[in-house]
Amino acid sequence: MTTHLRPLAEIAAAVRDRRTTAVEVVRSAMTGIVRAESGPDRLNAFITYSYEGADAAAAAVDAAVTGGGGDSRPLAGVPVAVKDNLCTLDLPTTCGSRMLAAYRSPYEATVVTRLRAAGAIVAGKTNLDEFAMGSSTECSAFGPTLNPHDRTRVPGGSSGGSAAAVAAGLVPAALGSETGGSVRQPAAFCGVVGIKPSYGRVSRNGLVAFASSLDQVGTIGRSVADAALLLETIAGHDPLDATTADRPVPSLAAELDAGVEGLVVGVPGEYFPPELDPRIAALCRATLERLRSAGAEVREVSLPHTRYAIPTYYVLAPAEASSNLARFDGVRYGLRAPGAHSTEAVYELTRELGFGTEVKRRIMLGTYVLSAGYYDAYYARALRVRSLIERDFRQVFDSGVHALFTPTTPTPAFRLGEKLGDPYAMYLSDVFTVTANLAGIPAISVPIGRVDGLPVGGQILADRWDEATMIRVAAAVER
Ligand code: GLN
Repeated sequence: MTTHLRPLAEIAAAVRDRRTTAVEVVRSAMTGIVRAESGPDRLNAFITYSYEGADAAAAAVDAAVTGGGGDSRPLAGVPVAVKDNLCTLDLPTTCGSRMLAAYRSPYEATVVTRLRAAGAIVAGKTNLDEFAMGSSTECSAFGPTLNPHDRTRVPGGSSGGSAAAVAAGLVPAALGSETGGSVRQPAAFCGVVGIKPSYGRVSRNGLVAFASSLDQVGTIGRSVADAALLLETIAGHDPLDATTADRPVPSLAAELDAGVEGLVVGVPGEYFPPELDPRIAALCRATLERLRSAGAEVREVSLPHTRYAIPTYYVLAPAEASSNLARFDGVRYGLRAPGAHSTEAVYELTRELGFGTEVKRRIMLGTYVLSAGYYDAYYARALRVRSLIERDFRQVFDSGVHALFTPTTPTPAFRLGEKLGDPYAMYLSDVFTVTANLAGIPAISVPIGRVDGLPVGGQILADRWDEATMIRVAAAVER
């Protein structure tokens, strides 16, 4: 197997033991990226990458390995792709938007700094729906990313570039971001593993804000072990993000082989509605059967407020977005529309030119639900429903259920363009994922089979801070 596609721990060990060099590993990845991203049938998973930059970073890792004390870092020489809404010093940070098309951040996201400190090499910045708003990566100002399993289909979104890059074997792992499913849904569509950690587990410093009470950085890998190792590397308290928890990061590697004997896996009926593709339902049942024979107790449970999750999310997320995106005013960041001579005109023209249709739709929706007269009817009400959704999970986990199993998405990857004209249909592809963000709990998507040759993901959710149990069940599903 190509060196850069071995398990992350093996790549790092080979670099540390000098069986290979970081430069060799990173060149093999970068050559693949250049090939996949050139020509008319390119995947378009990356917005920017720098062969020379990655090479220089890899050479520095090799120097550390051959220097005095050697290098004991867990990701020494491992190439990792980073979603382009995470700030980097060496490459632009565009958020998939014309607004930030040439933007360079003056600081780096904490998660990127932690990756580099662990010896990883940033291979490039991946494509996304503009400002992470979308479920297909079609809403990028840099054009859509294609699904490597079927280039007529979407890779999912908004972290579609990261998921496609891992699925196509361009990088062994990648960072994405989650507000309502943007790591898990593209992971499912691309046949890879995607983790959304507990809210507060990972620093948001340097993640361009979409909806701050829901946003969380997530990881994508070819295996549960790889996605978990990447999570361990970036997780933990950060003084630069007051919402990160000051609690120890669990060692997830120990959970991989722990098995599910004695665990209670809940199956919420609300996640198996009539709209669910019956072939996906069948794959879920087969997975649950395997968990049962591995020693888990499978128990039917109910999360009665699930049906309000999409409307709740699509009130709260746009509300927070409308506030967060107010900063893109043509004065402080990125684009300024030419030819505007009054303050008002600078705001208006810059935002007209800089934002795409979906982002404008979210800003208008969000402004509306926050406006005087509608605030109580929409925003305040959605907040109350959010606590009911949280309470549903609380009750289930308090009743002795250790983890929940559901499909990740109601359908496999849809066709490019299929849902672009129908925002509500697009929003419905998040129906099984937004609940974890609303409740702040961890969730993972793991491949469970194929339908018409397209990958299907199963989702495991666990109680807040219990990534360990989530990984335990996920590893059993993967086996
Ligand atoms: N697809 C959802 C949305 O459009 C989720 C996006 C995300 O998680 N960043 O809002």
